[in-house]
Amino acid sequence: MRTKVAIIGAGPAGLLLGQLLHRCGIDNVILERQSPEYVLGRIRAGLLEEGTVALLGEAGAGARAHREGLVHEGVELAFGGGRHRIDLKALAGKTMMIYGQTEVTLDLMNARKAAGLISIYEAADVRPHDFDTDHPRVSYVKDGVAGEIDCDFIAGCDGFHGVSRASINPAAIRTFERVYPFGWLGILSETPPVSHELIYSNHARGFALCTMRSKSRSRHYVQCSLDDHVDQWPDERFWEELKRRLDQKAVDSLITGPSIEKSIAPLRSFVAEPMRFGRMFLAGDAAHIVPPTGAKGLNLAASDVHYLSRALQEYYDEKSSAGIDAYSEKALARVWKAVRFSWWMTSILHKFPDEGDIGARIQLAELDYLVRSRAASTAMAENYVGLPY
Ligand SMILES: Cc1cc2nc3c(=O)[nH]c(=O)nc-3n(C[C@H](O)[C@H](O)[C@H](O)COP(=O)(O)OP(=O)(O)OC[C@H]3O[C@@H](n4cnc5c(N)ncnc54)[C@H](O)[C@@H]3O)c2cc1C
Repeated sequence: MRTKVAIIGAGPAGLLLGQLLHRCGIDNVILERQSPEYVLGRIRAGLLEEGTVALLGEAGAGARAHREGLVHEGVELAFGGGRHRIDLKALAGKTMMIYGQTEVTLDLMNARKAAGLISIYEAADVRPHDFDTDHPRVSYVKDGVAGEIDCDFIAGCDGFHGVSRASINPAAIRTFERVYPFGWLGILSETPPVSHELIYSNHARGFALCTMRSKSRSRHYVQCSLDDHVDQWPDERFWEELKRRLDQKAVDSLITGPSIEKSIAPLRSFVAEPMRFGRMFLAGDAAHIVPPTGAKGLNLAASDVHYLSRALQEYYDEKSSAGIDAYSEKALARVWKAVRFSWWMTSILHKFPDEGDIGARIQLAELDYLVRSRAASTAMAENYVGLPY
């Protein structure tokens, strides 16, 4: 098989890239290790920047998000027994949209199917080869039969544990990592949200977040120990712990119900540099991970893909390598700012085991300053809604 761009991974990054390339006439094939049902079953991100929503539209997959997504003009910060709203629209001129990653993935899959593009699911042993030459290729095994795709470029969109980054000569790549000493225990329930907007809570018992996927489906998180296991957290224990970490008004409007999904995610900041290796590019979680506090993971995957699709379009339409040469630097400039913001949101909202009472008081002082200072609130709002591409 031959294609222009072989994309490894059918998560949001791979699917969005495939659609954007297709829309400008660049043929591509996607290889995905899992089945479509498995990919659709992964409950992950749910908050989209305006830029991400616009890219979905550009990819021909934005109609349902515009119909069903919930637009949020602000977020709330709870600390010291009170709650304070950051008006994103007024301070930064932009809004956020609640629309689950599962829905984004489904819309992109449907658009890909409608366009008749080739996706090879349940592809085993996917491997990129010769990306440091002009003739890269990707090998795989499907239903026990070995296959190979010759291509002009390889896009490694295969997430943090994928094969693309792992195939790079360690001498050619530099990685930066911080692992946080706690995780997020999250549950999804068929219950209405506590409040119209998200509530981020800094509490002496640890961080909590009330978010949602729709008007009837809530997603709640509590900070937990890395040693915790979901079996130790029956629903009743989760709801009790969440209530302890919320202000009274939120507790009064919290409607509890059985969880339909429950999981623990560790928190990590990670960046790999550069994001281009000859004729292979990394995009999304394959190149970087942020703790979910700033809601940036999925949105960064989208901005990488924006830069990469434009660069490839320039290569094919204008016969210019300037875009692909600049891809890594451009994408990383935005990535590092989101890494900083996600670290900062994490550091002011969570309980850090080693920082003691003085650390907790400094956090409260910072939060108080944040909600009282227009300059500080604006800085948070600008980063939260997503920096310009
Ligand atoms: C448990 C969890 C919870 C999260 N919660 C949030 C959140 O609340 N908010 C937020 O903003 N972000 C969250 N994120 C991050 C967000 O989901 C990711 O940033 C986003 O999925 C990135 O998309 P991606 O396409 O780059 O990677 P992925 O979604 O990881 O997609 C990569 C794809 O590549 C496939 N793949 C992997 N290896 C191979 C291989 N060898 N061959 C072929 N295919 C392969 C995988 O099966 C997968 O489908 C969460 C992530 C996780 C893991």
